[in-house]
Amino acid sequence: MSHPTDPSCIFCKIVAGQVPSFKLMEDEATVAFMDINPVNPGHALAVAKGHWPTVDVVPPEVLAAVAKTAQRIAKAAMKELKPAGVNLVQANGEGAGQSVPHLHIHIMPRRPGDDVSLNWEPKPGDMAGIKAVYEKLKAAL
Ligand code: 5GP
Ligand code: ZN
Repeated sequence: MSHPTDPSCIFCKIVAGQVPSFKLMEDEATVAFMDINPVNPGHALAVAKGHWPTVDVVPPEVLAAVAKTAQRIAKAAMKELKPAGVNLVQANGEGAGQSVPHLHIHIMPRRPGDDVSLNWEPKPGDMAGIKAVYEKLKAAL
């Protein structure tokens, strides 16, 4: 299957086999491999084979394929590593912490007290504020 690539992108190079990785699996549209800076043992990435930077531009069927691969890795991690929990994390844009602009889902096993800063304390929202943004978002669908 042909897909867009960016020769300067590290994940495109990993997909093409030009840069080594601990590759867990691959299918027609996706590859999964171990993250080189794991937050916890088992931290892996499911990436699209094609170079689409973010969730708003990736074809929906490719996003679904990446999610399916992330599920497969998460299931293996849960069964084999028995972590306290697993987060699937997908960042879009620098402001969301994205450092590689090639669509990917992190599969992050969690350990108690691991200090991974993904979790937050819920604080009750202001209903008028929620409704105002809801109306804008709904109109943009
Ligand atoms: P982001 O910050 O974009 O959500 O996640 C990018 C992830 O890619 C980071 O967790 C980072 O450790 C990982 N990463 C960056 N470069 C490489 C690489 O060359 N090989 C592997 N295996 N992972 C990488
Ligand atoms: Zn790429």
